[in-house]
Amino acid sequence: MLNIVLFGPPGAGKGTQSERLVEKYQLKHLSTGDIFRANIKGETELGVLAKSFIDRGALVPDEVTIQMLESEVDQNPDANGFIFDGFPRTTAQAEALDAFLAGRSTEITKMLALEVAEDELRVRLAKRAEVSGRPDDANPEVIQNRINVYNNETAPVAEYYKSQGKYQGINGVGSIDEITSRLFDAIDA
Ligand code: AMP
Repeated sequence: MLNIVLFGPPGAGKGTQSERLVEKYQLKHLSTGDIFRANIKGETELGVLAKSFIDRGALVPDEVTIQMLESEVDQNPDANGFIFDGFPRTTAQAEALDAFLAGRSTEITKMLALEVAEDELRVRLAKRAEVSGRPDDANPEVIQNRINVYNNETAPVAEYYKSQGKYQGINGVGSIDEITSRLFDAIDA
């Protein structure tokens, strides 16, 4: 199985690049943000809970997020592998994911981390707000909070995979095609 953690700050291009990886490697794409948004739209209990965190740019609690992610993996027993997009976002989530995958005789192959400077992220998120319809893209304070949460809570997850020798940084600036080909090279290496 090829299990990729596609990592990076909000606006780094994880969603866009996930589509390319899915097409080439026939993987199942699991974006925790997309799953939360689908639940918000469907007005599920999980959606109502998640919305209160997402609207202010905070993380949804680990317990809820981990349980949701694990159930999505188990709903796809025939997958060739997974792209985890937006998960894990805390070290506790990374540890839970390792234990869960080990219980299914598989593991994370690599973390590919899209690297983009903070000023560029703000420009990209402001542009995305015009088309995404995401309330959390439209408010500069929420964007700043998401960047702060990334720096404080999520960035340390890179160290977790570095210590396992699974981390690879990818220059996330350039054309979409250029970045895709850097990701393909990293996976095929
Ligand atoms: P994203 O679409 O990845 O930018 O995620 C949008 C929002 O969903 C985040 O700002 C968080 O509030 C929430 N979220 C997504 N993934 C996670 C996660 N792994 N852990 C906690 N909250 C998450």
